[in-house]
Amino acid sequence: MDFEYSPVQHAFYREFRDWLTANLPADLCLDDPADDRVASDRETFERRRAWQKTMHAAGWVGITWPKEYGGRGAGLIERVIWEEEYAAARAPVLPGSMGLNLVGPTIIHWGTDEQKRRHLPAILNADEVWCQGFSEPNAGSDLASLRTRAVDQGDHYVVNGQKVWTSGAHFAHWIILLARTNPDAPRHQGISCLLVPMTTPGIAVRPLVLMTGHHHFNEVFFTDVVVPKTNLLGPVNQGWRVATTTLMYERHAAGGRSHTAQIARLMALARRVPVDGRPAWEHPWARQRLVQLAIDCEALKYTRLRSLTRQLRGEPPGPEGSILKLTGSELGVRIADVAGELLGMHVLVNQPSDVVPDAPRWFNRVLAARQYTISAGTSEIQRNIIGERVLGLPKG
Ligand SMILES: Cc1cc2nc3c(=O)[nH]c(=O)nc-3n(C[C@H](O)[C@H](O)[C@H](O)COP(=O)(O)OP(=O)(O)OC[C@H]3O[C@@H](n4cnc5c(N)ncnc54)[C@H](O)[C@@H]3O)c2cc1C
Repeated sequence: MDFEYSPVQHAFYREFRDWLTANLPADLCLDDPADDRVASDRETFERRRAWQKTMHAAGWVGITWPKEYGGRGAGLIERVIWEEEYAAARAPVLPGSMGLNLVGPTIIHWGTDEQKRRHLPAILNADEVWCQGFSEPNAGSDLASLRTRAVDQGDHYVVNGQKVWTSGAHFAHWIILLARTNPDAPRHQGISCLLVPMTTPGIAVRPLVLMTGHHHFNEVFFTDVVVPKTNLLGPVNQGWRVATTTLMYERHAAGGRSHTAQIARLMALARRVPVDGRPAWEHPWARQRLVQLAIDCEALKYTRLRSLTRQLRGEPPGPEGSILKLTGSELGVRIADVAGELLGMHVLVNQPSDVVPDAPRWFNRVLAARQYTISAGTSEIQRNIIGERVLGLPKG
């Protein structure tokens, strides 16, 4: 792979960086935006929606979406540039990211012309913010065992059941929902995918609060919810194939991206924070831990680039998706562990201190890092995929 930008890519990078410098409001910025990807309150959510509208008006949303659907039609390298510059600016995760990264591409692939016309511009513009109604209390890793029912009533379905861990459902306008439409068919062949407005009578959203105190996700209950058949996405009973499209996009985006900045910050802190009477950095074990994290972070970067190279050559996605998801999320946990070792009691209080002015960041890291090893497919599931599909090991 050629690491130099072409003149066109360089111009794209310059233009985006300059635009962000001129337009991104400082009070929207965050150290670890992924931890706050669902806004902590409605006011912040609405300000981020306004920010997405500003970005969209300037042509910076939906970079790789085809131009015919309102995107920029840019290539994968531009997308990487976009992600890197956006992260470097400490900009907030766009409130419509579920729609932009998962639901929109799935509608582009499976949707009717009417569904595309109805939803795609609204997703880009943050008029429609989406949530993902896949997991259930007894259907997470084993998603195909989901039990929410959608019963055919002629021109509509009636939905009953429960979803759980639904990120951002309390702000979302729409939900992409998996429900069982044929209970007699084999598990993977009796599921359909429905697009449902969250304002439909019979939908109740109950908060689930993370141990950080952040209201990130919810339980969502469906009681006799009427969904017109025009809201079916893809063929009836083929929802598993539709969901696979969504999950493919989700895994690609998972794993965490702010590791480099976190490690750099920890290294700076290690030079100031005392351990046994001298700066942590003066202890060989502390340097060893930090340098190992930096090495692993570089290795992850090159694995990501290898994955990109395959895609640029037009090859099918390789095992890197699972490897990136697994190593990225596990590295996040190890960074949190090292932060705990180095900063000691400072990670236990959600308060800035003289020694560690950004102590709340590390408090949050220690409590929040584990979530990335669960969402978008747990570490054990990724290991199963790598073991079976990459190494050719027998099924466990
Ligand atoms: C931050 C966060 C956000 C999320 N957002 C959403 C969302 O917006 N929408 C949505 O639908 N879902 C969402 N989820 C749910 C997520 O998809 C599930 O938590 C995940 O798929 C795991 O399912 P589960 O929680 O039911 O755990 P289970 O599947 O019950 O797993 C429990 C444990 O058993 C292990 N295990 C299970 N099966 C196997 C196996 N075959 N081999 C080895 N080990 C196994 C798992 O690795 C895990 O350690 C979110 C989760 C998190 C943490």
